[in-house]
Amino acid sequence: MILIDGKKVSASIQEKIAAEVKELANAGERPPHLVAVLVGDDPASQTYVRNKINACKKVGFKSTLIHLEPYTSEAKLLQVIAGLNADSEVDGYIVQLPLPSHISQQKVIEAIHPSKDVDGFHPMNVGRMVLNLPAYVSATPYGIMQLLEHYRIETSGKHCVVVGRSHIVGSPMSILMARNTPIGNATVTLCHSKTQNLKEITLTADILIAAIGRPWFITADMVKPGAVVIDVGINRVDDNTSPGGYKLMGDVDFENVKARCSYITPVPGGVGPMTIASLLKNTLLARKKIIY
Ligand code: NDP
Repeated sequence: MILIDGKKVSASIQEKIAAEVKELANAGERPPHLVAVLVGDDPASQTYVRNKINACKKVGFKSTLIHLEPYTSEAKLLQVIAGLNADSEVDGYIVQLPLPSHISQQKVIEAIHPSKDVDGFHPMNVGRMVLNLPAYVSATPYGIMQLLEHYRIETSGKHCVVVGRSHIVGSPMSILMARNTPIGNATVTLCHSKTQNLKEITLTADILIAAIGRPWFITADMVKPGAVVIDVGINRVDDNTSPGGYKLMGDVDFENVKARCSYITPVPGGVGPMTIASLLKNTLLARKKIIY
């Protein structure tokens, strides 16, 4: 079994990005600028945004955090977004999800200009991704594709089972794996909570991608021997022995599944670090105006 080291791959991608930022500086150009918009005080969202801002600093990007009060109105947020769309010094920005319930997430996503939508959530980017046109691809699925590429995992003709169909992970993942691209060309089955006989399906997966949000949902008896297992799940589970009072668990029962598979991502240290690397990559693409 080979442990897929997302931390290492992410670090090497970030080194390459930092080198490109230096090249820009040598050419007298400004660095990429990412803005993160955070509404409210959700602790997990605060951690995610802080990690993104820190990652920007490390590679030499300019970054700005716009932290809005939890009761910020939808109109006010849309005004902030309009300002970011118009600001030529901002290459890309993210609005951290989830948003408070009084704000329409879809309205906000559609207000982001596609050329600055480095999270790849705007329908224009999703549609272009489906059509295999240049697009910002949602960071987590994009990160997984880079892991598969880095470890030279054969995907062509393989049966890939994705469990979870969210707009940000499962659905784009299934499309990417099915596209006619070097990493892709898989035969894909997309499963969700209404799927019947899930175990029968996962047992046929050469590549199993779990994006469910339930700790240790995928057990060893659901995994085909020799499968590649990608665990997207990040679940905070109460744990009195941990300093923060919680520990992170994946969607896969790692200890028991690892003995059965050929490759597996750990949690933490697998898919998570790749998500940040992908966001930085998208921001660099935005700075260089490569997609739009
Ligand atoms: P969502 O809650 O949006 O989606 C979960 C999906 O799992 C849904 O499609 C749901 O089906 C499906 N599901 C739920 N229960 C079952 C079941 N019993 N059997 C089969 N399918 C089921 O989650 P996300 O996609 O946003 O996130 C999934 C996990 O990945 C979470 O743990 C999240 O924290 C993590 N994550 C990690 C990231 C990273 O950087 N590593 C980034 C983003 C997310 P249905 O559609 O029918 O409800």
